[in-house]
Amino acid sequence: VAEAPVLGMDVGGTKVAVGAVAGPRADHLVEEPTELSSTEALLDGMEKAYRAVVEAAGEPEAVGVGVPSQIEFATGRVLSSVNIPLEGVALREELANRFGVAVFVDNDANCAALAEAQLVDDAPARHLVMLTLGTGVGGGVVIDGTIFRGTHGLGAELGHVTIDADGPNCPGNCPNRGCIEALCSGTALQRDATELGKDKPDSPLGRIYAQNRRVKGRETVEAAQQGDPDALTLLERLGTNLGVAIASFVNVFEPEHLVVGGGLSRAAELFFPRAREEAAARALPALWERVSVEVARGGAHAGVIGAGVLAGQELKGQARDTARTGTTEGAR
Ligand SMILES: [Zn+2]
Repeated sequence: VAEAPVLGMDVGGTKVAVGAVAGPRADHLVEEPTELSSTEALLDGMEKAYRAVVEAAGEPEAVGVGVPSQIEFATGRVLSSVNIPLEGVALREELANRFGVAVFVDNDANCAALAEAQLVDDAPARHLVMLTLGTGVGGGVVIDGTIFRGTHGLGAELGHVTIDADGPNCPGNCPNRGCIEALCSGTALQRDATELGKDKPDSPLGRIYAQNRRVKGRETVEAAQQGDPDALTLLERLGTNLGVAIASFVNVFEPEHLVVGGGLSRAAELFFPRAREEAAARALPALWERVSVEVARGGAHAGVIGAGVLAGQELKGQARDTARTGTTEGAR
């Protein structure tokens, strides 16, 4: 039986990528710059990329869309969106009207976790936890092959698990402190590197601070790669904190795979060995022996693949519901 053709759309802060998704592959990829000037312009750009892929790949049965926003999954409404103009938009409905096919919308961290579950082994992983280290820290939990979302689709915000009760304030909308995001994100790295640069004007980080009044995460990574001991210490500390988090997720979920992705993971050699060492010392031994903890396979098209996998799974779920109840109620 042929799989239903599905498209995946990955909406990032700089580009919208769309492709036809089959298993762990994305074909007919099209990219458009993300229009940030207005909601209408952004939706137009998404539609343009969609139409270009349909022209090459044919009309799909469904489209999955990953966005860097909080999504009420059942309705596909965007509850909050910091970096792109989608807050309050009924995105699933808007796009279904524009495309004329079924649309499913989820946040990008969930889509990334679904993609990893496809990519991590020869067969899709059944149980996987993913942490995404970027400007913030996102996460996704795959249980029995599907994403766990909680009651309204807002769940599994792994980045806002507290690992230090007295830790620094969490950036963004979170009222908490000492969250993983407050200690292991690009924002946290910038905060600590800037502080250090201010304190040590004669150091490499101090010279960057003197120029720009701040030291970015990327600059800290570059300094560490050139052997700067201060930058290396900051990344080791990030690794230690990440290891504390990893141990807890291994204990809670007992996944087959725990993977760490996101922009910061490209510098994994600077903090991941420390994270694994810390996690190994803290996780319950019987669980630690059975889990694989790795850097995400990811790749440039993981967001597209994950969104497509999501659409395929939701289509199958609807078909199952229809077969059981004899109605198409609830299906678009
Ligand atoms: Zn938080």
